[in-house]
Amino acid sequence: MKHWVTALLASLTLAAVVQAAEPPPAAPILEGSEALKPKGRMRLLGTEVPAGTKKKLTWTSGAAMEGFVSPVPVFVLNGKGPGPVLCLTAAVHGDELNGIEVARRVLDDIDVEELNGAVIGVPIVNIQGFYRGTRYLPDRRDLNRYFPGNPKGSAATRMAHSFFTEVVKHCSALIDLHTGSLNRTNLPQVRANLRLPQVSRMTKAFGATVVLHSVGDRGSLRRAATEAGIPSVTFEMGEPMRVQSEQVEHGAKAVETLLYSLGMTKQRRYWGDPEPVYYASKWVRVDHGGILFSDVALGERVSEGELLGVVTDPISSQQHRIYAPTSGRVLGMALNQVVLPGFAAYRIGTSTSPSKMSKQSAEEPTEDSREDDEAAPTEEADPPPG
Ligand SMILES: [Zn+2]
Repeated sequence: MKHWVTALLASLTLAAVVQAAEPPPAAPILEGSEALKPKGRMRLLGTEVPAGTKKKLTWTSGAAMEGFVSPVPVFVLNGKGPGPVLCLTAAVHGDELNGIEVARRVLDDIDVEELNGAVIGVPIVNIQGFYRGTRYLPDRRDLNRYFPGNPKGSAATRMAHSFFTEVVKHCSALIDLHTGSLNRTNLPQVRANLRLPQVSRMTKAFGATVVLHSVGDRGSLRRAATEAGIPSVTFEMGEPMRVQSEQVEHGAKAVETLLYSLGMTKQRRYWGDPEPVYYASKWVRVDHGGILFSDVALGERVSEGELLGVVTDPISSQQHRIYAPTSGRVLGMALNQVVLPGFAAYRIGTSTSPSKMSKQSAEEPTEDSREDDEAAPTEEADPPPG
């Protein structure tokens, strides 16, 4: 048994969790009675969901014209045993499709009769962006900058507030599924604020998945939920606008491993090398505009000074080479495309550990603070409310 499991078991305080799972020990990744759903029915969005049943409910934001509402499906799987309420959200950015399929597979694979706790799954949070094939809301705002929202603000902040109070507040933990933004791709990875012990413990339960320390953007669902006492991570995988089988397979396997680790399910997924690997990261930007061609692949390990790619000016044919500023691993990168000076092209991860991150003060700039690929423009007409 791994040392962290032993440590977690030693700190076990809730008898309810122990009873919940038989063969897999229910490691108390989530502590505290607030994290647990007792046996029996639960109530969400005005509907009772009896124990041992699965229901499709709908959430509507209220931030639309009467007659033009877009109901968002919310699946509630209420298990028979006690346990946490795990929320699984996807497509907060409407063009990020991999997470939709991960959520569908995970929800479809759960046997609600056998489930401990409950799962709330929202495969397409930004359904209007999804219909239009865009990351943004109809008012061109990025929903993931407005959580936890405000009932009196802009359409985006009202929508965020409605979703946060009606759905997210019911969660004991949350996984928000994303992809790289706008012609960028990400290695499957958990992003989490490793300075928070409960979040840090959660990152150990996704199997052999890369974990990237990141505090998260202000206004992101992950950060707002974590600040509201709900340990949350984002799970990034692949590119927007595509459904990628390898990425989806990794994502579904990782989430199912977490469900098992929380003692909620009994299906164990096999990982050859079950250890997560921890990274801090920095973006490498291009200093010249032109056409970017990469020499490295996603997930590749690079040495300091190694060639990452070349930017060629399409008119003058001048070439500018981009070199790795440090040794590390390519955790995210731009696809080959036309770039402008300052464009964030490669996200290079350098090894770290949760204990190392927890020792750093919050003020220390250890990362690019923007979560969802900071170079992505927010098409905002006015700045988000403070
Ligand atoms: Zn996203």
